[in-house]
Amino acid sequence: LNKIDELQEVLIAGSFERPTSTDCMDIVSPVDGKLIGTIPICASATVEHAAESAQEAQEEWRLTHYTERYELLQKAADLIEANKETFAKELTWEQGKPLGDSLIELEGCIGYFRGAAEDIKRLETGFLPIFDPKKRVITVRDPIGVIGVITPWNFPWDIPCFNIASILASGNSVILKPAEQTPLSGLRLIQCLQKAGFPKGTVSLVQGVGEVTGEAISSSNLIDGISFTGSTETGRAIARAGSSNLKRLCLELGGNGPMIILDDADLDIAVADVALSCFWNSGQVCNAGERILVQEKIHKEFLEKVLLEAKNHKLGNPFDEGVTMGPMNNEEVALKTDRHIENAKEKGAKILLGGKRASGFPTNLYFPPTVIDGVTTEMLLNKEETFGPVCPTITFEDMDDALRITESSKYGLQASVYTRSIKKAFYMAERIRTGTITVNEANNFWEGRLPWGGVRASGMGRVGGRYALEQYTEIKTIIFDLSKS
Ligand code: ADP
Repeated sequence: LNKIDELQEVLIAGSFERPTSTDCMDIVSPVDGKLIGTIPICASATVEHAAESAQEAQEEWRLTHYTERYELLQKAADLIEANKETFAKELTWEQGKPLGDSLIELEGCIGYFRGAAEDIKRLETGFLPIFDPKKRVITVRDPIGVIGVITPWNFPWDIPCFNIASILASGNSVILKPAEQTPLSGLRLIQCLQKAGFPKGTVSLVQGVGEVTGEAISSSNLIDGISFTGSTETGRAIARAGSSNLKRLCLELGGNGPMIILDDADLDIAVADVALSCFWNSGQVCNAGERILVQEKIHKEFLEKVLLEAKNHKLGNPFDEGVTMGPMNNEEVALKTDRHIENAKEKGAKILLGGKRASGFPTNLYFPPTVIDGVTTEMLLNKEETFGPVCPTITFEDMDDALRITESSKYGLQASVYTRSIKKAFYMAERIRTGTITVNEANNFWEGRLPWGGVRASGMGRVGGRYALEQYTEIKTIIFDLSKS
């Protein structure tokens, strides 16, 4: 793969252009350390220009018949499908995940566009009872308006598409700012949307770093809503900046997924799911298995099995067949993993496997599967989101002890419980404060049509299938008085 010159382009008011007089930033591949390209760091003037054209586009776009939007969404899906192999290679190059996983990610994106196109045909609204017999009431769903979409680097295709398909289906205009670490996938997506024929201004792309470009989006008074996926800290900054014009917020923030394995569980199933949840995408997943809670009686057996299972997760060049883990995406996230492991060691935890970066690779970002025993609630591994390929094991006495440990972290995105007892599964599922809980299924289980979102420090709002159409629209009530017509 060679340097991509088009990375300098943004899409504003219907045409691709290269912003002048902005700072720039080089983007380097975590796989081989080579230069992918240079992006402009768009400042407020560029963002405002995009927002003005997005507002102008709203006048007609919000009133289009859904069949028109259906056709455009299907066209976008066709274009992604036709180019998915090339896009998957570029995704691996800029993100670091194995090529097979990149292809699966692209397939998912095609599904989001086709799914949103179908969902919009079926979005029902209401005919409401009203006390006055001379009146009739219906509700319709109006788009929010212009939505800024700010996305992270762990799923550079999936997360933008997952949100943008529903945002456009419901008649909003969209301005995408991809993560500065993975700007190429965002550019390719927006090129597809432009080619599909979405009208001028309905789709815009800006590039840049969070503190400049992201901040300009969240504080713009021309932008009506934000769809943000990223860290809790950034989510708070966006909520603060967005309060100036009371933006509608959908915040999908961090997670600290507890996987709770009770002593009556099928241990082989649990162990395979734990390894997958901890090591897939090198743990850089918001619903990864972040804390592995194991009941005391099965602790020893669990460790023996998980160390064996970890061998099935192979670190290497993500373009090579058989490799299941590529490099981590960037130095910052790898440093956080280093720090959490160091903190655990200082506080008495034991590293049973991995624990430090692997040598002999083109960059310093290759991190092997890591298994740690003796983790306690005081450690950063328990309190914070690690986002690395780490399986930190915490033991517990009984279900209430497991609940206490779960609650010692502020997050609430996804959790899982392993048991053969339906009664115990319900006991846990009804008590854990979380957006999603799986029973005898991996913590990072994901199906894009289910309601998705967190509670507490994991954010607000629900997306996924028809829930996203509800999230990105607002109810308008229309009252007819039949006696006066
Ligand atoms: P991570 O720590 O995983 O990189 P971030 O929350 O920092 O996650 O980044 C996710 C997205 O949020 C990126 O597109 C980034 O540029 C953007 N971002 C970071 N800081 C801000 C900010 N202050 N305002 C708006 N967007 C931001």
